[in-house]
Amino acid sequence: MRQSQLFTKTRKLAPADEVSKNAQLLVRAGFVHKEAAGIYSFLPLGLRVLNNIVRIIREEMNTIGGQELSMSALQNAELWKKTDRWEQDVWFKTELKAAGETGFGWTHEEPITHIASQYVSSYRDLPFAAYQIQTKFRNEERAKSGVMRGREFLMKDLYSFHADQADLDAFYEKATQAYRNVFSRVGLGERTFITFASGGAFSKYSHEFQTLCSAGEDTIYISREKNIAINKEVLTDEVLADLGIERTSLEEAPAVEVGNIFKLGTRFSEPLGLSYTDAEGKKHPVVMGCYGIGPSRLVGALVETLADEKGLVWPEAVAPFKYHLVSLGHDGDDVSKAADTLYDDLTKADVEVLYDDRDLRAGEKFAESDLLGIPKRIVVGKESVATGEFEVVDRATGKVEKKSRVEVLAQ
Ligand code: ATP
Ligand code: MG
Repeated sequence: MRQSQLFTKTRKLAPADEVSKNAQLLVRAGFVHKEAAGIYSFLPLGLRVLNNIVRIIREEMNTIGGQELSMSALQNAELWKKTDRWEQDVWFKTELKAAGETGFGWTHEEPITHIASQYVSSYRDLPFAAYQIQTKFRNEERAKSGVMRGREFLMKDLYSFHADQADLDAFYEKATQAYRNVFSRVGLGERTFITFASGGAFSKYSHEFQTLCSAGEDTIYISREKNIAINKEVLTDEVLADLGIERTSLEEAPAVEVGNIFKLGTRFSEPLGLSYTDAEGKKHPVVMGCYGIGPSRLVGALVETLADEKGLVWPEAVAPFKYHLVSLGHDGDDVSKAADTLYDDLTKADVEVLYDDRDLRAGEKFAESDLLGIPKRIVVGKESVATGEFEVVDRATGKVEKKSRVEVLAQ
């Protein structure tokens, strides 16, 4: 992509009312546009990052057998009344013309259970797992954490369906591992802890995945020895005894919840009539689990934890482009020509590259390049024409290497 054609530009200032570091940087770099507090549009660069995260999540969900679907955002009130969740104040509610109350989905246990009830009748129909990656709507009270707390945000929600608890338990383990894989692949593995959090009627705990982050709204207590954490909300002597952890060994830290997995048991299958008959013809409610993760929150968490004073810093796996090719040439001179040629070569080799082909001062280009945070910057200057070598600068470490065209293309 030629930067001269990119419709977004970097900006000197973020919106005056924006308090979060992630949104300030993402807006300044032209990755997102702020519509209102907690409401952001993803622009081309931001969408590339979001899509990379989504791709990783999708691969991991497919690996554990998840089947992708897409449920409606508009939700029928009657269904949610059956589970006593229509009265929650998280809803954005509206009226359908001549058809009554409806709301914008903020999670999808009810509709997926209802849909499953149309297809599941026998033990032979189980187990299965289905997921979607879809926009959720929540009328969040406070929306001051940028894309980490949207009123409209992307969620991956997977639901699993089982004949019994043992089968759910086995799948839950697989899902836990898939979640670990997601966080390590997006570059947050080392700072993300599986965290004991409040459960429900059917399990004592749920498990959150909490990423250490000074802007996070949660407080967790980490046991380094066991490599787990406990959410402050459930930190009691009983929990510590359950987990065999001494209170004095815990380390308190702010964190952001990036994922949450939950054993639902029959919380939804009973009220919504999702059941199956076993081999002896006996009827049982289906046992369920749910597994959520916030791709757009992950974008924010990556910015909060990795950005530096110069701007964004993306890990390669999620970066909008692998290379930022910066030409220091002017008006079709030899430097511009050398940069054009390298851009064509990279594009032909299917390497994702943003090419700063604009006629601007070097200092200005480098400052913008730092703000965008693409992992490697290739600089084409006068020396490149003379020596055939390019300066390759690592955004995260600032390390500079000289590379030939062949070396650049071989990466
Ligand atoms: P929180 O406690 O932060 O409000 P939650 O427990 O209500 O989150 P879940 O219902 O468990 O969230 O949603 C699953 C995942 O969706 C969360 O782990 C998080 O990654 C993401 N998520 C939830 N709310 C938001 C939001 N307002 N903006 C962006 N992502 C969100
Ligand atoms: Mg949660």
